[in-house]
Amino acid sequence: MVDLIEEKDITKVKVVKLFVSLCNNLDITIMKKKRLYVDMDGVLCNFRGAFDNYRKETPEQKYPQSKWGFFLKLEPIPGAIESFNLLKEHYDIWILTRPSFRNVNSYTEKAQWVWDYLGFDIVEKTIMCGDKSLLKGDILIDDDDKAGQPDFEGQWIHFGKGDFKDWKKVTDYLIKKDS
Ligand SMILES: [Mg+2]
Repeated sequence: MVDLIEEKDITKVKVVKLFVSLCNNLDITIMKKKRLYVDMDGVLCNFRGAFDNYRKETPEQKYPQSKWGFFLKLEPIPGAIESFNLLKEHYDIWILTRPSFRNVNSYTEKAQWVWDYLGFDIVEKTIMCGDKSLLKGDILIDDDDKAGQPDFEGQWIHFGKGDFKDWKKVTDYLIKKDS
């Protein structure tokens, strides 16, 4: 009799362990969102437009990005904010931007820009780094190739090129990829 009870208990423990393991596996394969990094200059904000305007108005200013307020006043790229908010539902979305190292204001201004356009929760998910290959993740949306983008461990979506000319193309692709 004692042996039978013990055997039953062992079976129960095995069943519970199997159930927990199944739940964990389901959590990993179904619930976990892929990690997506989004660049700022040239992807979320119109760096080039502001740069060209400053240069036209003040040709003697060779590096307008070193001016106070330059990064804070950048206009969003068409569709960027709407797409970011939509992709937030599908992906574990982060901002990954290279600061202007010679303009330390760029750190503050970029963070304030994110707060203004995307909200404080995204400020907490903003990474500033000069080498984007260091980050762990699945997808990187970036228009440049000089800050480690080609060596990023996941998929690099080269914004503005080939099939990824604008935010509509990128968003359609990523939503389809997630479904
Ligand atoms: Mg860029």
